[in-house]
Amino acid sequence: MEEAPRSLAGVRHIVLILSGKGGVGKSSVTTQTALTLVNHGYNVGVLDIDLTGPSLPRMFGVEYKQVHQSTAGWVPVSVYSNANDPIVEGKKQRGSLSLMSLGFLLGDRNNSVVWRGPKKTAMIRQFLKDVVWTGGDGKTPLDYLLIDTPPGTSDEHIAIAEELRYAGPIDGAIIVTTPQQVATADVRKEINFCKKVNFNVLGVVENMSGFICPHCAECTNIFSSGGGQQLCESLDLTFLGNIPIDPTFVEMIESQDNEEIHGKKKLIHLYDDSELKPI
Ligand code: ADP
Repeated sequence: MEEAPRSLAGVRHIVLILSGKGGVGKSSVTTQTALTLVNHGYNVGVLDIDLTGPSLPRMFGVEYKQVHQSTAGWVPVSVYSNANDPIVEGKKQRGSLSLMSLGFLLGDRNNSVVWRGPKKTAMIRQFLKDVVWTGGDGKTPLDYLLIDTPPGTSDEHIAIAEELRYAGPIDGAIIVTTPQQVATADVRKEINFCKKVNFNVLGVVENMSGFICPHCAECTNIFSSGGGQQLCESLDLTFLGNIPIDPTFVEMIESQDNEEIHGKKKLIHLYDDSELKPI
């Protein structure tokens, strides 16, 4: 029997982030979930397997950083290191955050890859086998590995499902949708995919669910709202929560100011204020 990728051996939880369509906020939910977990003291790794449009390096503000090779394998890019954080009441308050993405391996940010299935599969296998998935000090095992996938169910999903089959218990998948998409077949396709490959659906997040007016703080349901909850009720899934459209969110995501991202803005703008429950 094939063995689990060695580099995943110590990872405590593996969670996939899926969506039926692009542009619904899957990568945004991945970044915010990762930052929330870091803020709760967990060591988090994020793997971006959206090989044709890797956006996480930009979203995390580490677009121009480089992946390094060590004797143990590829060292992912550090987004946040808690190495110098003070120890309060016997522990560090924040965890560490590292990211691996094809984006780091492309010479030019405007480059994209046009690969056939087998090449994509080989790349994903390498991401799981050759990356040193550990906390900030290079030794502590990761608490969470979040895997951001491309929209739909494509070669990348099949490859990851095959690789993870040998990786021990995978916690499952979070499905991100928008109110308009909720009733469409795309979300159900994701759910069916999870069933086929034995991934547990951890729950559904409804993103862009209403718009909170920055002036009067009133929430307007531009599209519909509540579909995510109904979908979950009808399919017996967990509804994790909804996130409104927030104009400041785009500003922060697009911000390239690393100081702001590390120290304040991005780490403050977390789910703490929303209804999304920690995993
Ligand atoms: P996906 O990964 O599903 O393609 P992204 O996470 O890249 O989607 O989001 C698409 C765009 O929508 C990005 O510009 C992102 O900043 C924006 N966005 C996502 N969620 C929200 C939100 N709740 N409020 C405002 N903008 C959002």
